[in-house]
Amino acid sequence: MIVVKFGGTSVGKPERMKKVADLVLTTPGKKIVVLSALSGTTNTLVRIGDHLMNHQPGEASREIASLEKHYQAFVGDLYQSASYRAIGEEIVGRYFSLFRLLAAGRFDDRSYRELLAQGELISTELFYHHLQERKITARLLPALHFMSIDENQEPELDKISERLQPLIATLGNVEILVTQGYICRNHLNEIDNLKRGGSDYTASLIGAAIKADEIQIWTDIDGMHNNDPRVVKKTVPIAELTFDEASELAYFGAKILHPSTIVPAQKFGIPVRLKNTMDEQAAGTLISDKGSRGQIKAVAAKDNITAIRIKSSRMLLAYGFLRQVFGVFEKYRTPIDMISTSEVAVSITIDDARHLEEIERELRALGSIEIDQQQTIICIAGQGLAEKPDVLKLVFDALPTVSVRMVSFGGSPNNISILVPTPFKDQALQQLNRTVFGL
Ligand code: ADP
Ligand code: ASP
Ligand code: MG
Repeated sequence: MIVVKFGGTSVGKPERMKKVADLVLTTPGKKIVVLSALSGTTNTLVRIGDHLMNHQPGEASREIASLEKHYQAFVGDLYQSASYRAIGEEIVGRYFSLFRLLAAGRFDDRSYRELLAQGELISTELFYHHLQERKITARLLPALHFMSIDENQEPELDKISERLQPLIATLGNVEILVTQGYICRNHLNEIDNLKRGGSDYTASLIGAAIKADEIQIWTDIDGMHNNDPRVVKKTVPIAELTFDEASELAYFGAKILHPSTIVPAQKFGIPVRLKNTMDEQAAGTLISDKGSRGQIKAVAAKDNITAIRIKSSRMLLAYGFLRQVFGVFEKYRTPIDMISTSEVAVSITIDDARHLEEIERELRALGSIEIDQQQTIICIAGQGLAEKPDVLKLVFDALPTVSVRMVSFGGSPNNISILVPTPFKDQALQQLNRTVFGL
């Protein structure tokens, strides 16, 4: 059994959604099809939610009305027959009356998350009826019946598997099972989600839960590229990546994969294949435990990083100092990405700055603090790249005009991380592309 996930752009237009049905039909064997919301929908739902949180119901109603028009046109083109168009209109009408109901009530964080979940619920329902109209046998598996996270927002893989296996077993002879990406329940049984871009993570969690043969992520580009195509003009797809490489790239900003996607797949050695819905002949990228070593494969960049330098109030970094520093981050459940130390100071980067004020206050007891915001981590990834003797020269020769705030090398044999102020990001990625990849 395999898992096939289609992202927002892959289902964002009626003709694309029809193409997804064709692709699913021509893929042999039993599969779970994970769908995202139509492209742009989650962004719009976020805007509607923000307006309601900010007590701007008029703005929210305007956004709801224009999104409804978009969906009405969508179902008009998706379905062929009058009877299925009527079903499509009923579906759209039902979701939009829920939006208006949510907007009219006391809008809190819980209603916000319920609102965000509707994008994937509506896309899967529309797709399922499209299959029905084409007389293709399929079933809808509601993600809210099996996908869950615990009180630390971590997916409960064992429970997901225990709930999912029997659901699938009862549908022994149905080859196409359709489910929602991104959405789940939390430890209070409320509707929640796996964070933006989370449909990839859904696919790999399902893959791990059913020990799938392969997880396929279908998107709008022909696989993982060597550099960020949104910033650099000439980038090329990479045919093969190891789990470690793909994991570093996803975590450090390669938007094609949610940061946690690789973790469940790697745990069970399930290959992840990245494919292009717009060009199914393109080879894409195969991520597995195999792959060449000792070369730089790709670079990625992660923005909105905060760097904190703590200068010990004692003369040297006496023993116990780092433990106290780390203790502060642990207390506020804030993961550290990069770290570099000198005789009397330590620099640390964090991505989640929600508790920055409290962290800063507690760190002041240990020494003097400097904080730099709007930093970007540039991640240079390749399995065993540290074994390449000239690797640092290669990277730093590429960056003669970039102001580097921090460097991390040797923590992992598969990555070099460089912290730069965000205004230097584009230049750094472009220079690395020319010098390291010769593109
Ligand atoms: P989906 O809606 O299918 O989940 P996303 O927009 O989340 O698609 O991810 C695909 C996009 O990721 C691409 O269109 C591309 O702009 C961006 N991207 C960023 N870095 C990379 C990279 N290294 N390789 C490929 N795509 C990348
Ligand atoms: N629809 C969600 C988002 O836009 C999840 C996803 O597309 O992966 O973030
Ligand atoms: Mg995505």
